[in-house]
Amino acid sequence: MRILLQFPEGLKQEALKHAKELEAEGNEVIISASPTYGACDLAIDEAKHVGAEKLVHFGHAEFHHVDFNVEYVPYTIDASLEVLPSSLEQLKGMESICLLTTIQHVHQLEQVKRFYEEHGKRVVLNRPNGFAKVNGQILGCDDGNVMVIDRSVDAFVYFGGGIFHPLGALLQTTKPFLIADPFQNRTWRMDEMRETYRKRSRGKILASVNARNFGIMVSTKNGQYNMALAKILKKRIEAEGLNAAVLVSNTLDFDSLNNMLEFDAFVNTACPRIAIDDIERLRKPLLSANELMEALKIISELKMPAAKS
Ligand code: SF4
Repeated sequence: MRILLQFPEGLKQEALKHAKELEAEGNEVIISASPTYGACDLAIDEAKHVGAEKLVHFGHAEFHHVDFNVEYVPYTIDASLEVLPSSLEQLKGMESICLLTTIQHVHQLEQVKRFYEEHGKRVVLNRPNGFAKVNGQILGCDDGNVMVIDRSVDAFVYFGGGIFHPLGALLQTTKPFLIADPFQNRTWRMDEMRETYRKRSRGKILASVNARNFGIMVSTKNGQYNMALAKILKKRIEAEGLNAAVLVSNTLDFDSLNNMLEFDAFVNTACPRIAIDDIERLRKPLLSANELMEALKIISELKMPAAKS
């Protein structure tokens, strides 16, 4: 069978090893060298182009159904639980917690849960609500039910490394938010970052209210493509007497977008994290759909004649 292998950046170093294993089983193997951001970004077009009958996608669990033969090989890590005791001091006085992690550690969550229960905590696991498939799992673009759970727990604890995955959940919640990082063996409070991101969002909205021309970004990645939303946003912008155009690409290239000097602001319909994490890569404001709606509301209000006192 001809197979195309696809790896996220962190696993590309193992590509040849896996290719050799599959070749030894009698397959013809080709490796995708394109950047890969998640299971939202399946190399199906490449697979079809090279005549592959199957795509093997490493590192992520299934994101959504696609009409192609895809095998997912999620990557799991058995991280040390030694970090957990250091979180107890910071959780003093908090009786109930919600646990979150990524697909890499989700198999460890029962152990983590037991640890906190043995130390007197009531523990709930985040419930999948969208693209995530397993209790406790979050993605950078899928925070599960954290908004609902926020009302019934005293704190959130994310078990894992880095801030990419928990940042989305952080911005949907109001309670203390701890990172128990087994790689750095330390626990720290992430909730201090909430205000910074809220101010950044407000700043982008205000910087867009004088924009005349909006570029609406659409990605052709199979799990990110949202032309329907782009068309709705275009109509909403034009209803305010402003100009909008839909800009399409596979991987959004910020140098190319910066060359589009006619646009005063950009609106993201692709991976929702782009309008949070990548805003400094564009010279113009880069809004989410919700931020655009807030900007349009302000624009509309500014056009109204002032009420007489
Ligand atoms: S966060 Fe973005 S890159 Fe990651 S799975 Fe979601 S859409 Fe894809």
